[in-house]
Amino acid sequence: MAQAAQQTPHRVVVIGSGFGGINVTQALDGAPVEVTLIAKTTHHLFQPLLYQVATGILSEGEIAPPTRLILAKQKNAKVLLGDVEQIDTEAKTVVSRIAGSRRRPATVVTTPYDTLVVAAGADQSYFGNDHFSEFAPGMKTIDDALELRGRIVGAFELAEATSDPVEQERALTFVVVGAGPTGVEVAGQIAELASRTFKGAFKNINALDARIILLDGAPAVLPPMGKKLGLKAQQHLEKIGVDVRLDAIVVDVDQDGVTYKDKEGNLHTIATKCKVWSAGVAASPLGKQLAAQTGVELDRAGRVVVDKDLSLPGHPEIFVIGDMASVPGVPGMAQGAIQGGKHAAKMIKGDFKGAPRTPFKYLDKGSMSTISRFSAVAKVWKFEFAGFIAWALWLFIHLYYLVGFKNRVTTTLSWLVSFITPSRTQLTITHQQIQARIALLERNTILRQQAEAAAKEKDPAGNSAPAPAPEHSPPNAASS
Ligand SMILES: Cc1cc2nc3c(=O)[nH]c(=O)nc-3n(C[C@H](O)[C@H](O)[C@H](O)COP(=O)(O)OP(=O)(O)OC[C@H]3O[C@@H](n4cnc5c(N)ncnc54)[C@H](O)[C@@H]3O)c2cc1C
Repeated sequence: MAQAAQQTPHRVVVIGSGFGGINVTQALDGAPVEVTLIAKTTHHLFQPLLYQVATGILSEGEIAPPTRLILAKQKNAKVLLGDVEQIDTEAKTVVSRIAGSRRRPATVVTTPYDTLVVAAGADQSYFGNDHFSEFAPGMKTIDDALELRGRIVGAFELAEATSDPVEQERALTFVVVGAGPTGVEVAGQIAELASRTFKGAFKNINALDARIILLDGAPAVLPPMGKKLGLKAQQHLEKIGVDVRLDAIVVDVDQDGVTYKDKEGNLHTIATKCKVWSAGVAASPLGKQLAAQTGVELDRAGRVVVDKDLSLPGHPEIFVIGDMASVPGVPGMAQGAIQGGKHAAKMIKGDFKGAPRTPFKYLDKGSMSTISRFSAVAKVWKFEFAGFIAWALWLFIHLYYLVGFKNRVTTTLSWLVSFITPSRTQLTITHQQIQARIALLERNTILRQQAEAAAKEKDPAGNSAPAPAPEHSPPNAASS
């Protein structure tokens, strides 16, 4: 669709500052458009390294540079902090909220668009058991990672403080649910934290007594990596002391433990204080809004089934990219979002020249997962690597994709400390890390009430669609 000459610049609104949102915005640099990137955090998050924040290797700043600074030199882009709660595809507007507390209502901003790119990613999924989230946080945000750091380090402290051996054992038992890359990486790092960093650091307990149990309902570790690499990863995890239990379907999680059903249907309960959930994802609920308004299809994970050019069927002015989009053959990985963002920008720029839309072609650059220091598995096309070579490859690629030169330098230094010495530079925990979840939950409730009240005021008879506000999660609700 060729754009008519306009007085005001063509307004592109991008929702999300993750891999998709940042890449589409940067690829529009120099284009005759005015980009407004709206995101609910002030940073661009490098999610693949969240587990290193949770386990004290990296600081949050190293993996989450401010979006505003990344885009500071881009003349046609501005950044707006806000939790998008409504997309109106008829009026072509996006409504976002910022702040909001018990005392002050949130500031609501309506941003009009000519073209919209929705890149709001995915939240943690508990497969319909959302009550598990209270006890087993996921790992999607900086809040999640810092809270997990608090819980992991806090569990060791609790074990040291108590003289009750049962409570001590419970505190020293860590359960990670989900043996995908995140679960494997977290389990491996808790094992290293116990065996290297905390070795000899406690007087009442021996950190080496920590048990790390990795559960998965599937029969293999890292299923997408194939049987051979999955087995290698499992063997290495077991070598460093992780107890891997497969065909184990988690049926309950509460304050005291985790219950799972084995292959034979027997139930097992593990008494544990610290649980980590890394078992599933569900696309941002903004997809549901798009579906309700445009009739677009959603897949089982709530992802939007887009056209070949990544736009919505019947709505060439709306693109959905990254983890929110359902595109055959494109995995929910960083490269899918990066390449999708670049493709959407190409389509937007092409529209000005009257160029026809072209299908998105995904280039599979492979996948990898670290297991512990000096050990990883990697699959690049038909080549499979395990051990040190895979780890070195992992290190290089993650440094390459980390945004910002300074972040690369400080990350390299932090890695040197934790890979060469047993020490870790980021083991500080605060009360805020552990207790802020309650404040965030309260904030969510307040925002929802405010949105409902606003909708009622607008439409007292309640004839129109209900207020769309915070059905979706504020920063930490995925793991709340
Ligand atoms: C722990 C973890 C480890 C991972 N490891 C790897 C890996 O090793 N390799 C790999 O390739 N991939 C990995 N991934 C997956 C990869 O990070 C995602 O596929 C990628 O981030 C998707 O990019 P995205 O832009 O679609 O979404 P995201 O990067 O999730 O970005 C979504 C953005 O939208 C914003 N947002 C969401 N809802 C709203 C709203 N309502 N209003 C405003 N803003 C909103 C968020 O704040 C965020 O800025 C990992 C993911 C996780 C969670």
